[in-house]
Amino acid sequence: RESQRASLLAVNDFALKHFEDNLFNTDEGREVGLSYFRQRGLNEAVINKFHLGYALERSNALYASAMEKGFTEDNLVTAGLCIRTDSNRVYDRFKGRVIYPVFSLSGKIIAFGGRTLKKDVAKYVNSPESVIYVKSNELYGIYQSKSAISKLNKCILVEGYMDVISMHQSGVENVVASSGTSLTEGQIRLIHRFAENVTVIYDGDAAGIKASLRGIDMLLAEGLNIKVLLLPDGHDPDSFAQSRSASELEAYINEHETDFIKFKTDILLKGVENDPMARARAITDIVHSIAVIPNPVSTNLYITECSRMLRIDEGVIRMEVTKQRADIA
Ligand code: ATP
Ligand code: MN
Ligand code: MN
Ligand code: MN
Repeated sequence: RESQRASLLAVNDFALKHFEDNLFNTDEGREVGLSYFRQRGLNEAVINKFHLGYALERSNALYASAMEKGFTEDNLVTAGLCIRTDSNRVYDRFKGRVIYPVFSLSGKIIAFGGRTLKKDVAKYVNSPESVIYVKSNELYGIYQSKSAISKLNKCILVEGYMDVISMHQSGVENVVASSGTSLTEGQIRLIHRFAENVTVIYDGDAAGIKASLRGIDMLLAEGLNIKVLLLPDGHDPDSFAQSRSASELEAYINEHETDFIKFKTDILLKGVENDPMARARAITDIVHSIAVIPNPVSTNLYITECSRMLRIDEGVIRMEVTKQRADIA
């Protein structure tokens, strides 16, 4: 098992070098991959920092050069770099895509994401899970961001690869991505090793709002302080960070991030003012978020705050929190 880990890491290392080499040292890589990254506004420093690459369009470019170096077909398939068809044909999983390597906390290459440059059905393909890649325990960008996260005691959580990279380019370096999936406990514990404060900046669309409401009770239950920032509609952190400096971004974030309970209350109470049943459901839902918070001092502050926002007697909310806590325990 230990040797399987080592051989998967070795073939990923080789693939990383191969993809980077394609990007800078082949005509196709420069004309297709590098010009794509340029057109997305990335500079060479950030391309190097995140070790971005390019997989040639040819269906066995990586396969052939890895085999020549002595890697085995099984190795390439288990690592997910190649796919074996039912008829035993083997081809490169990421062919024709730009490459985003996924680093572990300690800087090992454990997976890759590949983005299509065409109108492909799957915008991204990612490495499958393996002994070196358990997706639910990893966060994209953690290796490059961990020191800023712990220095600032604050982690910004975004959805995608490009969001992390563009924010770094703008000089905001305490940021990781959940890569589109809903947050897991393993990922939350990973954040908590470096910071107590989390600001969730998801895409400014309906899916982004839904996703931010979903992950958040889990973050609260872990004892983290959560804020939410909703970007102007149509923006994601990548598009928003482009052409903004670190100080502009930081100022915007500090001004517009709102406490999670306030955010949730605003969203859930919108439009239900005159519907007592819907209002009651919303309030129960909000109280649930308060009930999962482990720290009693924070809980108390939120009860007071909520009673003010909801215009409901504090004692009533306190009772409901106590009741829901008993249900959770
Ligand atoms: P881009 O700006 O290049 O279009 P994005 O990051 O804004 O990319 P989203 O559609 O917002 O793309 O998706 C957010 C993240 O979800 C992606 O960065 C990727 O990690 C993951 N993702 C998106 N689509 C897929 C897919 N089809 N399969 C697997 N993961 C995906
Ligand atoms: Mn999105
Ligand atoms: Mn996006
Ligand atoms: Mn985007």
